[in-house]
Amino acid sequence: MRFGLDEDQAAIFEMAAGFAAEHIAPHALEWDEQKTFPVATLRAAAALGMAGISVREDVGGSGLSRVDAALIFEALSQGCPTVAAFLSIHNLSSWIIDTFADEAQRTRFLPALTRMDRIASYCLTEAGSGSDAAAMRTRAVRDGDHYIIDGEKQFISGAGASDLYLCFARTGGDGAKGVSAIVVEKDTPGLSFGANERKMGWNAQPTRAVRFDGVRVPVDNRIGAEGDGFRFAMAGLDGGRLNIAACALGGAQSALDRTIAYMGDRRAFGRRLSDLQALQFRVADMATDLEVARAFLRHAAAALDAKAPEATKLCAMAKRHVTDAAFRVANDALQLHGGYGYLAEYGIEKIVRDLRVHQILEGTNEIMRVIIARALLGGR
Ligand SMILES: Cc1cc2nc3c(=O)[nH]c(=O)nc-3n(C[C@H](O)[C@H](O)[C@H](O)COP(=O)(O)OP(=O)(O)OC[C@H]3O[C@@H](n4cnc5c(N)ncnc54)[C@H](O)[C@@H]3O)c2cc1C
Repeated sequence: MRFGLDEDQAAIFEMAAGFAAEHIAPHALEWDEQKTFPVATLRAAAALGMAGISVREDVGGSGLSRVDAALIFEALSQGCPTVAAFLSIHNLSSWIIDTFADEAQRTRFLPALTRMDRIASYCLTEAGSGSDAAAMRTRAVRDGDHYIIDGEKQFISGAGASDLYLCFARTGGDGAKGVSAIVVEKDTPGLSFGANERKMGWNAQPTRAVRFDGVRVPVDNRIGAEGDGFRFAMAGLDGGRLNIAACALGGAQSALDRTIAYMGDRRAFGRRLSDLQALQFRVADMATDLEVARAFLRHAAAALDAKAPEATKLCAMAKRHVTDAAFRVANDALQLHGGYGYLAEYGIEKIVRDLRVHQILEGTNEIMRVIIARALLGGR
């Protein structure tokens, strides 16, 4: 896990792993069962610089690289992938504001976001447009120095609890070029939320629809120029996908570590499970798959840091490969626990439930293949 890291990177990993072990892991099962969104814990993570990881330091960010971010999310997820993944979504919104907003907007929004005094949600998906996000129908119509927003976003992580909604809405014609990015603040009249969705996993963070009913927002809340919003949304997802993959990796590593410990204790046919070669081989494959995933994830993160031309393709490959491998490993870990893996108290079934959605959101793994194939084949 630590091979290839320099001293600073190893310290970053240790810091996040220590935080996860002390402040997240002991509560993860209870938060899942009670559907608790642990805001105080998220703020404690923010105090250590984990709410504005790749945000510049003048507004309270940590100014760290994408490789550093991947290390942080892998380490945090060993405590709970759901809590870490929410932090990754908050970081995604903050990064977009830091990268594309003007100076006045950066100083207005980011200090509170990096402290996590205010929490941000990323609002792209709609009921009729998920993978085909550019088909969105939420509209922002200009009215003097305001926009009036009408529409509805679906599946928004943190909705209802968040203070800022980075909303992608149509200000122009059809397609990606008609979309703008607009920050909507929580108490704006006309903004409302659906019920917390009942989900397979990710129970320690709320998921709700966000409704805009004549929501009046100053034009000053638009990030960048009209029509640039979709580009910002996609740029943010390169890093977001690495982080979602890192969260899956950390969750799977935790499932594997628990499995190895369990196999040393559990006996069948007069032997420990860890003495059975068929199971030894299975664990060997699981560990190998995670090491390959880890190496490739860090490679893709380095490509994004280097602004390599193929970075988007590599981020999509990493998201697809790592989240598939991590889910497989978590599911195998459950199998190796036998019936106990199916019981909530062992914590393995929660990891399986949590990791399943990493194959779906921030672009499904089919859409990752679309991106990869487009990069390889282009218009051919
Ligand atoms: C728990 C949770 C949290 C989420 N959080 C957020 C959030 O915070 N913000 C946000 O904006 N969104 C969020 N999402 C939404 C998520 O990003 C979408 O669900 C996802 O992008 C897929 O969209 P969809 O559900 O509409 O599926 P669809 O787009 O309807 O896809 C259905 C199936 O068809 C496949 N498919 C579609 N098009 C193609 C194609 N061209 N080629 C091959 N296969 C294709 C898909 O891969 C999928 O298997 C969240 C979702 C969940 C479940």
